[in-house]
Amino acid sequence: GHGSTPASRDVFVVDSPNVTYTDEEILSRYTYRTTIVSKDAASGKYVAKPKETAYEFKTDRKVPRVGMMLVGWGGNNGTTVTAGIIANQRRLVWDTREGPRAANYYGSVIMGSTMKLGTDAATMKDINIPFHDVLPMVHPNDLVIGGWDISGMNLADAMDRAAVLEPTLKAQVKKEMAQMIPLPSIYYPDFIAANQEDRADNVIPGNKASMAHVEKIRQDIRGFKAANNLDKVIVQWTANTERYADVIAGVNDTADNLLKAIEAGHEEVSPSTVFAVACILEGAPFINGSPQNTFVPGCIELAEREGAFVGGDDFKSGQTKMKSALVDFLINAGIRLTSIASYNHLGNNDGRNLSSHRQFRSKEISKSTVVDDMVDANSVLYAPGEHPDHTVVIKYMPAVGDNKRALDEYYAEIFLGGHQTISIFNVCEDSLLASPLIIDLVLVTEMMTRIKWRSTAKGEDYKGFHSVLSILSYMLKAPLTPPSTPVVNALTKQRAALTNIFRACLGLEPESDMTLEHKLF
Ligand code: NAD
Repeated sequence: GHGSTPASRDVFVVDSPNVTYTDEEILSRYTYRTTIVSKDAASGKYVAKPKETAYEFKTDRKVPRVGMMLVGWGGNNGTTVTAGIIANQRRLVWDTREGPRAANYYGSVIMGSTMKLGTDAATMKDINIPFHDVLPMVHPNDLVIGGWDISGMNLADAMDRAAVLEPTLKAQVKKEMAQMIPLPSIYYPDFIAANQEDRADNVIPGNKASMAHVEKIRQDIRGFKAANNLDKVIVQWTANTERYADVIAGVNDTADNLLKAIEAGHEEVSPSTVFAVACILEGAPFINGSPQNTFVPGCIELAEREGAFVGGDDFKSGQTKMKSALVDFLINAGIRLTSIASYNHLGNNDGRNLSSHRQFRSKEISKSTVVDDMVDANSVLYAPGEHPDHTVVIKYMPAVGDNKRALDEYYAEIFLGGHQTISIFNVCEDSLLASPLIIDLVLVTEMMTRIKWRSTAKGEDYKGFHSVLSILSYMLKAPLTPPSTPVVNALTKQRAALTNIFRACLGLEPESDMTLEHKLF
């Protein structure tokens, strides 16, 4: 196993009067420095005033035993992430036409990337450490995996159906995965494409929302927790993309109305919202990896009321990740992006489901707002309300399977009326990109359940972060944020929020790239 005592996991300690380690906790006093801007009425000028806020963070050092339950466990993502974790647990090596390949966690920010801790005292060179070692985080090899699917196929057969992994790898995990059988799930046919109906052979009776469904899912979580002796369960929706639910006053606009609507079996309550409600009531964090509006206003209000954690929406694996990096670069380089045309074709079951209009519409919405914050922030290039043209096309092409193709054309205006056209052709197995994100979402969410904060000035009790975990934005296409707070899509800012919040828990300053130590001497 991985580190039985907290201390054995730490690869560094912080030596600061603001940081205290106890056996159970890391306590940090942290000064959050921001700039508050107001407009001077007389001169019409902005006045920028530095502001300091003193916070205290308390991080629980005990790494718990965690279960990851996936809704849609038998799908491409579900089977791929499960096989991937087993392969890592057992350090498997398999033969491919390019030679042997070994299990890894490439594509996971937490497991595959590093963070600059600081500057070496002697050599003045950067010291970088694995992201996973910054705080006492769960190791993915220690996750216990389970979940639900409307298809009752065991995970070994479902892995074959997914057609993602090499046969030589599959052969080594087959026996273990054949024992894994998804729990029956709830299926309301109107929410996913009609072409999914043949899969639905593992369903809990009832084709609309009910309290009995909420109860059943809560029992499943409790049962899984008890059977595997877990401290915590985190649930993630990686099932089919649903159509949008209409947000209707009196139905799903408030927490109480939503609970009443479930009780009454209202047809606008989706399976994913029923799962979210069950998890919220059970205190299990729930993350939505698909684009639909699972988190209707009533659902968010319920999470806040129950102090439960939620995150979403829609894994940001390929095209959008590139977009949120490239557009950030272009606009911050002062280049006036005028259009983005995005074409996708894919041949997996996700593509099949998205070939139906209402499900495609959910994806289209999710993919279309991803550059807004970057455009709105640049009043030099864009007049108020002005935006680049942006179109998203997705086509189902069975032959390419999970090997999704994403073609993007970025068209921009450069110096003196010139043009720049950037054309990107991104090809990769969609599920191999999404699986590490599923892991990161679980690891970060779990970590956030162990971080408490308080304002030093107010001297209040420690409490958790807001129910809506916007810190997960890096992994998500249409980041959910606390009500009436801004959405950040720029990839560099999203990563900075993640790293710097973790650093604050250790009393470390945000990562600064000023490197004055190399400029002023
Ligand atoms: P998939 O179709 O292979 O898997 C979905 C699984 O969900 C299927 O096994 C299906 O039987 C099951 N399912 C459907 N409704 C269910 C319900 N109510 N309860 C339980 N199970 C249910 O799809 P996938 O490729 O694994 O993708 C999963 C989701 O993740 C899709 O919505 C997709 O849009 C989203 N997503 C994927 C990526 C990626 O890169 N792979 C990126 C962003 C979002």
